[in-house]
Amino acid sequence: MADIDSLSSVDDEKVAFFLIDCSDPHAAYRQLCRIRRMVDPALYLRPVLFLPGPESVPKNILQSADGAIQAMGHSLHEQLESWTARLEGINKKIHQYTGQPNQNDTNIAFKILRFIASRNLTAEPIPSVQALSGYIFPALQPLFPKPDNGIFETLEYLETQRLLSGTFTGSAYSCTHCGCAFLNFFETCPDCGSSDLVTDELIHHFKCAYVGGLSEYRQGNELICPKCDKTLNHIGVDYDKTSIVYHCNQCGNVFQEAGVMTSCYNCHRETEPENQVQRSIKSYTITAIGENAASYGMDSLFQNILESKVHALAFSAFKEFFRIEQARIQRYGVTVSSLAALRLGGIEELYTRLGKRTREIFDEISEAFKANLRSSDLFTMRNETLFLIILTETTPEDGERALKRIKERIGSLLKTNLDITFDADFAIWQITPDLDPDSCLEKVLSHYAA
Ligand SMILES: [Zn+2]
Ligand SMILES: [Zn+2]
Ligand SMILES: [Zn+2]
Repeated sequence: MADIDSLSSVDDEKVAFFLIDCSDPHAAYRQLCRIRRMVDPALYLRPVLFLPGPESVPKNILQSADGAIQAMGHSLHEQLESWTARLEGINKKIHQYTGQPNQNDTNIAFKILRFIASRNLTAEPIPSVQALSGYIFPALQPLFPKPDNGIFETLEYLETQRLLSGTFTGSAYSCTHCGCAFLNFFETCPDCGSSDLVTDELIHHFKCAYVGGLSEYRQGNELICPKCDKTLNHIGVDYDKTSIVYHCNQCGNVFQEAGVMTSCYNCHRETEPENQVQRSIKSYTITAIGENAASYGMDSLFQNILESKVHALAFSAFKEFFRIEQARIQRYGVTVSSLAALRLGGIEELYTRLGKRTREIFDEISEAFKANLRSSDLFTMRNETLFLIILTETTPEDGERALKRIKERIGSLLKTNLDITFDADFAIWQITPDLDPDSCLEKVLSHYAA
């Protein structure tokens, strides 16, 4: 590939991957980064393979690409063919994403989500001295413009949104000021704070009960008690070593409990270990909600319409109301409310089929919600295909009737106007103290995926 900057689009049907000459690994890595930082999903998501040169390529660079091809004469063609087949799944996903207009591809969190979803990637943290944070995610790193902790923050954010699921792999301290993982832990004198300490083993002579530092007993090759002048021969018989004692070279203080301090190798600030950041290091995979958001975006036109028409709540506000409703029911124990999760299939087709009429149809869909919900019902959407509704003072049986009416009305609207066959799933739960809205969404989605 001669000039990455001249790339403005690629033909989905024809480009299976980019192949980068890796004879200069660092230059190759820079090329890869430029691709990953573009905003067109057809480009930044496209598989990248390295063609390793004779030089061995550093492992962290090699792992940042989707794969590598060995430049071996006549077998090269076969390798290219087999990679084309292996990458077909990724390219299908990219094709699906590029089929729909989305403003979100400038957003790094959304790009990360799409990248992980397109590869069904388990993003594993790898310990590395090359990153200030002490860990790298080789495949994700090139998407980030700066080598800072943005990658951790982005992944943690996506996890709090339940778009990614994190699995604990370890824990690490990092500097509270700059995020650097390279910290020096050292012992200090409790009196003067100096770290200029020497340690000594504490010896207890059984016979005379004298306790003192090993250095006090040492005379040549022998241990002689400074109090009673007896020779100490056998540990456990004549004496034992009770603990360690510190001696401060600065102020002469002798003590058994030293303080512990940390200093940062990057910003040089010192602080107690408990003030540094203790971070859970996790590997990340996509959730069912995340898959859905990668396809349809995290917010959208449809959402804007619904928010203004039916007063759809922001998801965070919805969760707050949900908690209040749970508490209210638990406290008074006389009423039943329900939570419904609804997934509209077929909506994704609207974008590609409707063009300008999209707005009109979304208006109609909003009407279907409005007509079948009461003003006391609360409503939110995760994206254009996923909804959560709190039906106050409604049993699951009554709620089911309302949901069926919404489903039928939208179904016939799409069928009559557009000949789109619509499929929808919904599920209803009675609101109990331990019901969790996020798990309810997961259930509706995984039911659909099965
Ligand atoms: Zn003694
Ligand atoms: Zn001291
Ligand atoms: Zn620091």
